[in-house]
Amino acid sequence: MAVQFGSEFAIAWGGWISTRWSAEREASRAELLRHRDHLESLVDERTQQLSQAKEAAELANRAKSAFLANMSHEVRTPMNAIIGLTHMLARQNVDPGQVDNLGRINQAANHLLALLGDVLDLSKIEAERLTLEEMPFLPGALFANVDSLLGERAQAKGLWLKREIAPRLLDIPLVGDALRIQQILLNLVNNAIKFTKQGGVTVRADIRAESDCDVLIGIEVIDTGIGIPSDSLQRVFEPFEQADTSTTRQHGGTGLGLAICRPLVNLMGGDISVSSVPGQGSTFALTLRLARDCVPVAPADQGDEPAGPALSAAETEQALRTRFAGTRVLLVEDDEINQMVALELLHEVLGWSVDVAENGAVAVDKAGLADYDLILMDIQMPVMDGLKATRAIRQLPGRRPTPILAMTANAFQEDRQKCLDAGMDDFVAKPVEPEVLFAVLLRWLERRSS
Ligand code: ADP
Repeated sequence: MAVQFGSEFAIAWGGWISTRWSAEREASRAELLRHRDHLESLVDERTQQLSQAKEAAELANRAKSAFLANMSHEVRTPMNAIIGLTHMLARQNVDPGQVDNLGRINQAANHLLALLGDVLDLSKIEAERLTLEEMPFLPGALFANVDSLLGERAQAKGLWLKREIAPRLLDIPLVGDALRIQQILLNLVNNAIKFTKQGGVTVRADIRAESDCDVLIGIEVIDTGIGIPSDSLQRVFEPFEQADTSTTRQHGGTGLGLAICRPLVNLMGGDISVSSVPGQGSTFALTLRLARDCVPVAPADQGDEPAGPALSAAETEQALRTRFAGTRVLLVEDDEINQMVALELLHEVLGWSVDVAENGAVAVDKAGLADYDLILMDIQMPVMDGLKATRAIRQLPGRRPTPILAMTANAFQEDRQKCLDAGMDDFVAKPVEPEVLFAVLLRWLERRSS
């Protein structure tokens, strides 16, 4: 009996336990499922939050770039007036003291512009939006340009500026962003001159390695200047960093040049480093990997450079005045001061006949009535912008070959591309430097007449 009772009890107990156990298991399973679902919804929620944050960051980045592009335009437009009017006054002025002061205004304005360019470059690098051009070039011209742009500055300080370039490197056809390489070289050589009191600067370059498709170039800029303390050697490549802030007051500068050079060099598949002995000098060494220009360039495409030897600024001006006397230009520009500056250059200096259109719509009307030798086109204008106007002019009978040159404060590479896509032939960034404008005008008039 006892046994029976015992076994019944055991069965009942066992049943109770098993029911209880399965209930608990059910509960844990349900709990687990709840957690899993919760986890899934938690992951979903976090993923959504992350993608929203990413979108917000991208939006902020785009807003920053748009802000910088706008700011660049807004600053460049009045700078165009300052630089243009200063040139105008300097040409008309005979008082040496005043001409000197006008020269200083011009220098200060250009300094501001360079600063603006550096801030824009840096922001593009940070936003990873800096793209490099892929154009054929010969390295020899780049090194020669450094001499012609900075030779005088070195001479004025009693310094030598020497070039030791491997002869084979001078005319090896390469493809890359020559302007950016020039920017790096100018920055390094400019610094070397700035921080050297005695002795001089040597620019050395050679080919370190080559294959059928590319060439590894090594460049060194060596100076005999004040040098850089060892604890500052890495810092100088960071934005806004200067080796010795006390020298900043003496030498000026913003500490942006090298911070821009380094990512540029990296983008070109190279490296940059510095070694220095304080009191004895510094050596900035960099490598660049550049593609060979294997595809022969058709003569018509070569031509950003004028045929024959490059003319000096005075010779260019003279050629425009004499060989192209009586040229008829349509100037499309809404800003009155900028109209005045351009008119001074085109009409007063070159003696050309200039019609002014204050917006794109007026320009289309005028271009329909007269066959201009050349059209200078602003981009941002009321009523109709320069891009639309260009497209409309290109549709007019007989206006396909008219050179249309953008003259604009929109300095980004994308802006340049937009101008070319709209059917323009070339691009002159504002503030317009008379020498640059004249060189571009001569190139296009020569093309038109050939
Ligand atoms: P900036 O010259 O406008 O200050 P950079 O980024 O070109 O900006 O240079 C950063 C700093 O590196 C300079 O302020 C200077 O302290 C140091 N530096 C650069 N080049 C040299 C050089 N050749 N000799 C000595 N110091 C240099």
